[in-house]
Amino acid sequence: MIHNIHHLHCGTMCPVCGPLFGQKGLHAQVICHCLLLETERGLVLIDTGLGIQDHLQTKARLGSMIARFGKIENNLELTAIAQIQKLGFSPKDVQHIFVSHLDFDHAGGISDFPQATVHVLSSEYNATQNLNNYKRKARYKVKQFQQHRYWNFSEPIADENWFNLKHIQNFDLFENELLMVPLLGHTAGHSGIAIRNQENWLLFCGDAYYSHLQLDGQHQLRALNQLEQFFAEDNQARIENLKRLQTLSQTHPEVQLICAHDPIELARYT
Ligand SMILES: [Zn+2]
Repeated sequence: MIHNIHHLHCGTMCPVCGPLFGQKGLHAQVICHCLLLETERGLVLIDTGLGIQDHLQTKARLGSMIARFGKIENNLELTAIAQIQKLGFSPKDVQHIFVSHLDFDHAGGISDFPQATVHVLSSEYNATQNLNNYKRKARYKVKQFQQHRYWNFSEPIADENWFNLKHIQNFDLFENELLMVPLLGHTAGHSGIAIRNQENWLLFCGDAYYSHLQLDGQHQLRALNQLEQFFAEDNQARIENLKRLQTLSQTHPEVQLICAHDPIELARYT
């Protein structure tokens, strides 16, 4: 049973080229939107943003490229662990972490919760163990999570219908109130996480899209599309999943969609 959903702002990056992200101005404001769920099985964190060590040792953890060009706002108060404490919880209460994928801006906080079980698609974890191309080398920073002990890998085989998408079967730890909905494309094992909120659903889409404007298929954000294509492990799959998300958002108002990096979406909840 999920009692409460907190929307957390876990880090800001301001890379150059705001227009690429559908924003005005030279620098884009790219935030890390994470969720904290209060459940009967303890606290559940959805994505982790940047962690303490990413702020303290940016170059050693993330490499000189990201340290130099990512324009990460160094502020420890933006870590998930600091915000969880501010809400009055103990970090030890975080029992489970679901990550949409393991890019550095989603996996950085894992090391701040060594006791938690991390749920991720096996194809995503496997990709981090096989850095055989420049994209994987640039995006995955295995130092962030290589010491972590507790993992639950799900096969990316989804057979059960969930609206116009499919979710992983037999993932009943949370009695079908928390589902992994693979949205492959951005990375090899990218997944959405669906959270039941009484009669409604919240679908956390990670990096399956970057701007709420993209949920309207009429909106053409050409520069952003090229950027996503550049980062995508499988661009065709990414486009197909984006179309499914557009259809879902237009046909099912009871499902709210959020992505990981859009400050306007985060502002709706905070
Ligand atoms: Zn991201």
